[in-house]
Amino acid sequence: MFGEASSIKSRISEFRRHIHSHPELSFQETRTGLYVAEKLEEAGISCRKGVGGAGVVAEIGEGDRVFAIRVDMDALPIKETNAVQYCSQNDGVMHACGHDAHTAMGLGAALILNKTPPTNGRIRIVFQPAEEDTNHNGKSGATLMMEDGAFEEVSGVLSLHVFPDLSCGSIAVRSGPVLAACDKFEIVIKGRGSHGAYPELGLDPVAISAQVIQAIQTIVSRKNSALEPLVITIGGIRSSTFAPNIISDYVEMTGTVRHFYSHTRSMVKKELEQALGIATTLGGSYEFKYTEENPPVSNDPVITALVEETALALLGAGKVQQAEMQMGGDDFSFLSEKFPACYFFLGAMLQNSPRKLHTETFDIDENCLPIGSAMLASTALNYLARS
Ligand SMILES: [Zn+2]
Ligand SMILES: [Zn+2]
Repeated sequence: MFGEASSIKSRISEFRRHIHSHPELSFQETRTGLYVAEKLEEAGISCRKGVGGAGVVAEIGEGDRVFAIRVDMDALPIKETNAVQYCSQNDGVMHACGHDAHTAMGLGAALILNKTPPTNGRIRIVFQPAEEDTNHNGKSGATLMMEDGAFEEVSGVLSLHVFPDLSCGSIAVRSGPVLAACDKFEIVIKGRGSHGAYPELGLDPVAISAQVIQAIQTIVSRKNSALEPLVITIGGIRSSTFAPNIISDYVEMTGTVRHFYSHTRSMVKKELEQALGIATTLGGSYEFKYTEENPPVSNDPVITALVEETALALLGAGKVQQAEMQMGGDDFSFLSEKFPACYFFLGAMLQNSPRKLHTETFDIDENCLPIGSAMLASTALNYLARS
């Protein structure tokens, strides 16, 4: 299987480079979807287009049982600074999360599987839009595709993410929780504006916010068990005016909460409200909105064991690592909540210069591409063969 993937390595790189240089933001992946459909059809693989937005679904094989491979296709609002031939041609938009590689590996897996389609079941390859954004009536691509029937009849799902901190040639996987649940909160702290020289005539929401932030930042250290992962980040704060000599009317903040358990979520919601009580105590008021976004991604033990076994056979001993739980999230969680699923990390480190996800210099070692395609295709075939 790895030999077959290696033989189309340059083809998979070509797919990846084309998609990399034409990145599209979440909910705008029309051209990417059309490109995927065109490449599938060129190989004689029929597909359904426009699923859940710009999604594409292809199915290979015959039989009752269906196993799904899910890859994501969207890019991020980042301006690429890499001086590479395949650099982004869409100014201010960049494949900085490696979804170009995921889409290319999905295409690679389709080409490999199509050479000898399975007769003991069908392998459905789902090219999903909008993983990075949930702002479509609170929904992201995984949910929209599910609602549009992309996962009907499916009995197991597999996905992967390139991992720049893991050397190329290795994978990392774990059974159970692997990626955190992600929630969002929005806060408005209201005071009363005045001249900066006469604070006693107003009520300074910036000073109140400083105390609220201090209180919020003790939730992790004082209210949460040290044995249960939790992150609370206030990612943005701004006052209603921005000048040295004006006291603003209000301050807005927004943040993210990452956790693995529903009881942690309940505790954080309660404690955020508690911290906001400071605003009232100090004579101001507040508005608070908490949005539950993704549940955690949790890996099914049986499919995880199959991924490990497949990787051992393909990559050899010493190349299969136990993944650590990550505080990052992925909307694959909506699939892992509904179906037995596995999400593994694919080593993609650029030698000498590892790059971080979601940065303007992100890039991967393209040698990981055939490995990813082979892992996706082989695990799917092994699943159909075993169960
Ligand atoms: Zn991302
Ligand atoms: Zn990603």
